Amino acid sequence: MTGGTYQVRDPRTGEIHRELCPPAPAELAEAAARLRAAQPRWAALPAERRAAALLTWREEIAGAQDELVAALTSDTGRLTESVLEVGSVLGMLERWAGQAPELLTPPPPLQAAIPGIEIRGAGVPYPLVGVISPWNFPLLLGLIDAIPALAAGCAVLAKPSEVTPRFIAPLMKTAAQVPDLADVITMVEGDGATGASIVRLVDAVAFTGSVPTGRIVAAAAAEAFIPAFLELGGKDPAIVLAGADLDRASSSVLWGATANAGQSCLSIERVYVEEAAYEEFLDLLVRKAGRLTLAYPGPGDGQIGPLIDPAQAAVIERHLTDALEKGATVRCGGRMERLGGGRWCLPTVLTDVDHGMLVMTEETFGPIVPVMRVRDADHAVELANDSSYGLSAAVFASDSASALSVADRLLVGAVSVNDSGLTAFVHEGEKNSFNSSGLGGSRMGPASLSRFLRRRSYLINNSTGPDPWWH
Ligand code: NAD
Repeated sequence: MTGGTYQVRDPRTGEIHRELCPPAPAELAEAAARLRAAQPRWAALPAERRAAALLTWREEIAGAQDELVAALTSDTGRLTESVLEVGSVLGMLERWAGQAPELLTPPPPLQAAIPGIEIRGAGVPYPLVGVISPWNFPLLLGLIDAIPALAAGCAVLAKPSEVTPRFIAPLMKTAAQVPDLADVITMVEGDGATGASIVRLVDAVAFTGSVPTGRIVAAAAAEAFIPAFLELGGKDPAIVLAGADLDRASSSVLWGATANAGQSCLSIERVYVEEAAYEEFLDLLVRKAGRLTLAYPGPGDGQIGPLIDPAQAAVIERHLTDALEKGATVRCGGRMERLGGGRWCLPTVLTDVDHGMLVMTEETFGPIVPVMRVRDADHAVELANDSSYGLSAAVFASDSASALSVADRLLVGAVSVNDSGLTAFVHEGEKNSFNSSGLGGSRMGPASLSRFLRRRSYLINNSTGPDPWWH
């Protein structure tokens, strides 16, 4: 979009704060050109010096923590998760600054099968990486790919969601304080049109968002002939087997399903409980869910914040209505609220659900926990895999070996064992998203950084005589 007509809304009050200010196409192209011009100097710095710049940025972000939390709270209407987001970004900067120099050390030279020829490997960063991100964790997801790309030596042109642009200015103020870094990262406001323009201006794109938009970005990247790393939606299942610690499982599933008001890609969106554990698990879950309250009137109250995007509130409402019309039973919650001009959803446990309902098959992205009784582990696995998504999952069992034997059969990229949503905090383990939940190399672990490098081999002939294959 270039007309500046998107209205930035306060999720707690519904008030329009201002209009979005996306750059005009020429300004965006100039920003990309400036980043490209600055990138060779950045890439030529020793990896340790880039790491030092990331650590200086970390200090600047830590110093601006209050301003950033205030902006994020204004963007999203919730406080606790905003504090967590800043903490998580500080952790990421420290981790990549610590790991990047070693990861970027060239591998030892190899001797080729042909005598006399030595192979030396190198990684060549993509000059300009585009980062396009959603509204549910604006700061964290705006930087989760940008930081390893910068560590690898790329310049970054980022565009967070139009729904949550208020954190951009304070964040860019911190980057401007880091001399080596300031010229190689630009974050702009804008909606889908700006995102589409970015795909045409960069050499690789890291996209986080919904499956439908991910498909559009993948097609545009193919057209531009650039790689697209796609992290998309999910419909994460939790499986609770007989013999599991049900007190732990119910608390963990409840947190996994309702943290950030369910607005997380890795939210638990459906629960399958083995017959023998069903009644007790459900009773615990409903009792604990009933104790949660809305984060209203102040952002520091309660646990369940407002629904950030009105368009998503409409999806949640549609899924709830569909489930109730098809015979689901509300065990607690079950209502959308309008409070103070914002949209809210009470934590909701549903039973008598099946895969004929949207709430069991499509991403809901709200604090809704549908629970299904299953015969045994095989039945749970069959239902968990009956999905077009494949982001992550959770399995609770009496011991980790039994849980792992079930986890092994799930078509997802990460499984939390005897816990939920661990990928929110644990970023060291490599994982791919299965099915339509994503495409491209792992965002987690060392591969996250190597996604942004093209591999080059130097093939050095140390022999002096003629090559046997010459004319
Ligand atoms: P979305 O797909 O609507 O938008 C994501 C971003 O894409 C926004 O910045 C948007 O402006 C931009 N965009 C829209 N059209 C575009 C186009 N044609 N070209 C380029 N960019 C374009 O997603 P959303 O509603 O902001 O976020 C919610 C979705 O994100 C959910 O599906 C959620 O599961 C997913 N998500 C995934 C992960 C993950 O790591 N897998 C993490 C968080 C959120």
